[in-house]
Amino acid sequence: MWQAEMRIDTATIRDNVAGLRAGTPAALMAVVKADGYGHGAVPSARAALAGGATWLGVCTLGEAAELRAAGIDAPVLAWLTGTGDDYAAAVRTDVDLSAAAVGGLDEIAAAAARVGRAARVHLKVDTGLARGGATPADWPALVEAAAKHAAAGAVEVIGVWSHFVYADVPEHPTTDRQLGVFREALAVAERIGVTPQLRHIANSAATLARPDAHFDLVRPGLACYGLSPIAGRRYGLRPAMTVRARVVLTKRVPAGTAVAYGHTYTTDRETTLALLPLGYADGVPRAASNAGAVLLGGEVRPVAGRVSMDQIVVDCGDAPVAPGDVATLFGPDRPTVDDWAAAAGTINYEIVTRFGSARVPRVYE
Ligand code: PLP
Repeated sequence: MWQAEMRIDTATIRDNVAGLRAGTPAALMAVVKADGYGHGAVPSARAALAGGATWLGVCTLGEAAELRAAGIDAPVLAWLTGTGDDYAAAVRTDVDLSAAAVGGLDEIAAAAARVGRAARVHLKVDTGLARGGATPADWPALVEAAAKHAAAGAVEVIGVWSHFVYADVPEHPTTDRQLGVFREALAVAERIGVTPQLRHIANSAATLARPDAHFDLVRPGLACYGLSPIAGRRYGLRPAMTVRARVVLTKRVPAGTAVAYGHTYTTDRETTLALLPLGYADGVPRAASNAGAVLLGGEVRPVAGRVSMDQIVVDCGDAPVAPGDVATLFGPDRPTVDDWAAAAGTINYEIVTRFGSARVPRVYE
């Protein structure tokens, strides 16, 4: 019998994607990097495709290869590659590549020439994030190099793309400035004679709240898994991940009992403590010590003391809690991933991507 498990509701991922898809005339690339934001890349990808996604987005070539090895033949864009990556394998398996600098594009084109077929490339422009992408100053040179490689049959320019600075405040003025830089970059590409099939810049927040940023393709990640990037707004999304654990031990203790490493929690009355077999090695944020809470015996009950590597203690008061009872750390109802993010002083993205370990089986439903 399981003592701790993660349940992933793939029908919910499918429905979230279908809802996002219904809100835009643009095509949808479901972002399944980081093992599908902790939900499992392949099952998440399949669910997203069933919900109407026609593209998948990942960071690394390894992540793209995992999708291809599972028999997924939908278009995949891998956007974080570098010197030494096996671009030839990517070209052979129809994985689209991002190019942000002439040197990288040349490497991709050389690999494509060796394979004997054009690499499918998305040119990335840095519209303000100052992370990936060519700066507006370097952009014309990148587009000209792409035009040269395209004329030689080594490259096909599929996309021109960028990424927003604000994943949580879509109406921020920076978003408008970035849209202006993006439109100008598209105009420059047009003047050089490069017309991409797909222009894309919208993450979840822009997919949900900035229809003017949808262009030809939207690229949501977080929202596919039912989490909102924007505080206080749910957009009808339903979380797909639930983490549960069984109580492994209960004990009755008197008032004044100091609990767990460092004795940072002291009981203020006689109470029942319950031990759950999940700790920071499984993803429970240590920063949520004395702040996180779980649903146990019908009520949300606080984590007592520090989160340990393998376990947490929950203060259950006089509730008739017993070994074998199931506690929910988070799920679609309460507590939520957002509650844990708030308790740990982080964002919901970090909670789901860090959760799970070899000893917490992932169960799909
Ligand atoms: N596009 C790129 C390039 C990303 O790195 C990410 C995630 O960080 C996304 C899209 C999806 O973002 P979100 O999960 O906020 O929808």
